[in-house]
Amino acid sequence: MDQVGEIREKIDIVSFISEFVTLNKAGRNFKANCPFHTEKTASFVISPERQIWHCFGTCNKGGDVYQFLMEYEKMDFPEALRTLAKRAGVELKERNQGSSGDTYKKEKLYEINILAKQYYHYVLTKHDAGKKALDYLKKRGINEKLIEAFMLGFAPSSGSALTSYLINKKKYSKQDMLDAGLGYSRGSSVSDFFRGRLIFPLVDHRDNIVGFSGRILDNDIKTSKYINTRETLIYHKGDHIFGINNTKDAIRRTNQVIILEGEFDVMTCFENGISNVIAVKGTALTDSQVNLLGRYAEKVTFCFDTDKAGQEAVKRSLSVVEKKGLMPTVIEVPGGKDADEALRSDPGAFKKAVKNDISIYDYLLEKTISSVDVKIAVGKKKVADTLLPFIAQIRNEIIREHYLKKISTELDTSYESIVREMERVEKKEKTTATTEILKLKRPKEEITEEYLLALIVQNSKDASFFQKARDVFSGNLNKNRAVGKIMDKLSSFFGKEKIFDSKKFANTLPQELLTTFDKSILYPLPVFTDAEKIIKEVEKIAKLLRTFYIQEKMRYIAEEIKKEEAALSVADAKGTGGSRVSKEIESLQKEYSALAAELRGS
Ligand code: ZN
Repeated sequence: MDQVGEIREKIDIVSFISEFVTLNKAGRNFKANCPFHTEKTASFVISPERQIWHCFGTCNKGGDVYQFLMEYEKMDFPEALRTLAKRAGVELKERNQGSSGDTYKKEKLYEINILAKQYYHYVLTKHDAGKKALDYLKKRGINEKLIEAFMLGFAPSSGSALTSYLINKKKYSKQDMLDAGLGYSRGSSVSDFFRGRLIFPLVDHRDNIVGFSGRILDNDIKTSKYINTRETLIYHKGDHIFGINNTKDAIRRTNQVIILEGEFDVMTCFENGISNVIAVKGTALTDSQVNLLGRYAEKVTFCFDTDKAGQEAVKRSLSVVEKKGLMPTVIEVPGGKDADEALRSDPGAFKKAVKNDISIYDYLLEKTISSVDVKIAVGKKKVADTLLPFIAQIRNEIIREHYLKKISTELDTSYESIVREMERVEKKEKTTATTEILKLKRPKEEITEEYLLALIVQNSKDASFFQKARDVFSGNLNKNRAVGKIMDKLSSFFGKEKIFDSKKFANTLPQELLTTFDKSILYPLPVFTDAEKIIKEVEKIAKLLRTFYIQEKMRYIAEEIKKEEAALSVADAKGTGGSRVSKEIESLQKEYSALAAELRGS
């Protein structure tokens, strides 16, 4: 066995996944709400027998313990291999550690970023060139402890200090500098991307330095206050969360994450003992950010500027937060300042505001109502148009009704008309949602075949059940599709074996059939009281498959008849071969009626 297999054998998938997701026993398998998409009913299934998992919900993901870790932690395979090897107590041989392609490139970029961070940090804390920046930080109340915790640095203004250090001293290439986003081409040479800026390393939740953010020291200079590493192989703006590496434990402990506007807000809060904080680059939260935050906390608290841009960002983030089933609240900062300013002018008042965070819907209601005249019809309509799309996203019925009642009181409008208006909004949202789902749907034959296979493999304890079932469905399966092929393999398996052993059987399958088989082992089946009922269900499904087959065939014949009729009218016009064509049509029609009769009879 190779080391990948050895490690897989040593780690029990059920206990491993249960460290991330709450599992419930369901027959021979375990079930949970899928960690990779939002759902109300559990469709994420794990098989202890096969040591695999699969989601039968919309995300349709699945695999073994490696795939789970890669998906959950957004790791590459070599990274997952190393993590699991450590856990299993397996020492990896050289060749398994060798990374290739993108993974190799990513690791190189992480390496370069570590060196860049150390370089910038050295300049800030030890070198004369960093003195001005250090003074600036002191003036803003950032002490040594914070400088260390957030690994701050300074990029010298000279133009190529970092690049020459990394190229001449550390032997990286010009291309490496460009790939890391730390340099940019100037003719044939490469210059530093960050110059004369305070540097914030951007660190992910696994402590990888993915990029940097640079701030100018002098607000009067006419250039962007902040610039970030451009998108690279390892830095994706929409994924990044500033501060998470330092604050995730506090976020988990308090079950709340406070979202701030910028780096200084995060550091100042951190210093003042409010440690469950982060900041996002860009204004609104993305799906991927909310997915990550949802692992640590259920309550998402916005602490944005009360200006229009800040409010818009909150509104845009809200749908993502609701979709994930998290609870959104807002902190109203005294005096409408940002957290950094507020904490420096009156820490007590800010801490009180943090403690008294309010539901985001109360906040929106208050803001909207205070901005229009609710005594006039146009004002009422404005309030309903603005708020109802948000209320429509609330997943909890009681909370939703609470706000509908509140709106009806505030507008002095009947509850019924608010509910009707709400239904209109929901209908509009639903039609867009269902078309999305329909696009995802696979052919119903395929789904039905997979259900049939699940019925058979999960209940075939011995050869006799399989043979009984096969008598029922034989002839109704498309032998060219995966399920048909697996049934053939099952037939030959039971030709030799009396007892079904899923592991033994899986070993007889080629790689391309394995996924379909694994899915059938995991498929969440209804509970049947006895074998008789299962055979009845197999009969029902076999009949259904036959119906699909006939319908498909009839559609095909109808098309053929149309083509022949077109050919006939051409032949009639030319006076050539019309009788041959009409005979063709006749036989097609006969076949068609025979199928139609079978369909009626079935
Ligand atoms: Zn899923």
